[in-house]
Amino acid sequence: MMRLPYFMFRAPRTVQEAAELLVSGEAMLVAGGTDLLPNMKRRQQVPRTLVGLRRVAELRGMSNGDELTIGAGVTLSEIVRSEQVRARYAGLWQAASQVATPHLRNMGTIGGNLCLDTRCNYYDQNYEWRKAIDFCMKKDGATCWVATSSPKCLAVSSTDTAPALIALGAEVTLTSATAARRIAVTALFHDDGMRYLTRRPDEILTSVHVPRLDGWRSTYWKLRRRGSFDFPVLSVAAAVRSAADGTIADARIVLGAVASQPIVAAGAASALVGAPLTDIQIALAANRASVPARPMDNTDFTLHWRKRMVNAFVTYALSELRGDDMRSVRYRIARQLL
Ligand SMILES: Cc1cc2nc3c(=O)[nH]c(=O)nc-3n(C[C@H](O)[C@H](O)[C@H](O)COP(=O)(O)OP(=O)(O)OC[C@H]3O[C@@H](n4cnc5c(N)ncnc54)[C@H](O)[C@@H]3O)c2cc1C
Ligand code: SF4
Repeated sequence: MMRLPYFMFRAPRTVQEAAELLVSGEAMLVAGGTDLLPNMKRRQQVPRTLVGLRRVAELRGMSNGDELTIGAGVTLSEIVRSEQVRARYAGLWQAASQVATPHLRNMGTIGGNLCLDTRCNYYDQNYEWRKAIDFCMKKDGATCWVATSSPKCLAVSSTDTAPALIALGAEVTLTSATAARRIAVTALFHDDGMRYLTRRPDEILTSVHVPRLDGWRSTYWKLRRRGSFDFPVLSVAAAVRSAADGTIADARIVLGAVASQPIVAAGAASALVGAPLTDIQIALAANRASVPARPMDNTDFTLHWRKRMVNAFVTYALSELRGDDMRSVRYRIARQLL
C-alpha cells in the first residue's frame, strides 16, 4: 500500500488567509485532492504544507449575470447537475461529465481540473518504478525518457475542462495576497510539461468566467482507452456561431492531450468561417486541425494513430454542431468499437 508522506495541513476559511499561507512558497493548494493526493503517494509532489480549500465559502458558488461565474471550488458533479451549463455550454457540460468517475467528480473541482498536473508514462508510476529508471527530468532525474535530447519535459496536458473552456472563450481570476488578475484560460498554460501553468505559486485560481455566448453551439469529444473512465489521449472542443444566412460567422477548435498545453487550432477554425457547415468544409477543417497536433509516445495508444484520430474527432465534433445525430458514434467510441 502506498502511504502519504508527512505534511502539515492548514484549513483557511477565506481566500485572503489561503493566499497568505502560500507566500512562503513551500505550501501547495489542495481542493478535492483527487489528483494531488495520489501524486503525493507516488512522491511525484511532496509539499511540506497543504492548504485545503474546501472550507473557503467564497470559492463555492456559481452565479449568472452578464457571464457565468463558477467558483474554483465548485465540483465537477455540481457543474454536471447544472441545467444551465447543460443547455447553454454543452461543450463544458460534456467535458465535465467525462472526467474520471462519479465518485471523483463528487470530490474533484473545476479549479483542480484546470491546474491538473501533466501526465506521462515515465512519470505516473510509483517511486520504486521511477527510481529503477533513474527517474526523469520532471521529478528527481535529469533525462527525458520520451526524447532524450529534449531540453524540456513533454508530459501531456490531460485536463478535460480546459479545452472546452478555451473553446468557449472563458477567463479565470488568479488571486494572491496582494492582487488579483484576470486572464484568458488559454493564457493559463505553457507548452512545458514541468512549468505547465502561468499561475504563480502564490496565486489561487479563484473563479472561472464564461461569457454569455448568445447564438453559439459547443461540443466536446474525448478519446480514451476505457469508455467508463480514463484520462483523455486526445480531445476536441469546438464551438461555432452561425450567421442569419446559415453560414458560420465564428468558430473555435481546441485540441487536448496532444501537447503539454491545450492547442488552439486557429487555422482549422478559420476554414469554417463564411461558409455553411458542409461535408467539404468540415473535411477541410479536420485536415487542418491535425497539423498543430504533436502527440508524443508517452501515453496510451500509438502516437501515429492518435494523430490520425484528430481528423476523425474534429469531423465528429463539427458534424454534431451541424445538427447530425451522432449518438451512435458516441456509443461506439464509449465501447471501443472504433
Ligand atoms: C482514476 C482517476 C481518473 C481520472 N480521470 C480524469 C479524467 O478523465 N480527466 C481529467 O481531467 N482528470 C481526471 N482525473 C484527475 C482529477 O480527478 C480531476 O482532474 C479533478 O478535477 C482534479 O480536481 P481536484 O479538486 O481533486 O484537484 P486537486 O487534486 O485538489 O489539485 C490538483 C492540482 O491543482 C491545484 N489546485 C487545486 N485547486 C486550485 C486552485 N483553486 N487554485 C490553484 N491551484 C489549485 C493543486 O495544488 C494541484 O496541483 C482522474 C483522477 C483519477 C484518480
Ligand atoms: S516527458 Fe520526459 S521529462 Fe516529462 S515526465 Fe515524461 S519522461 Fe519525464
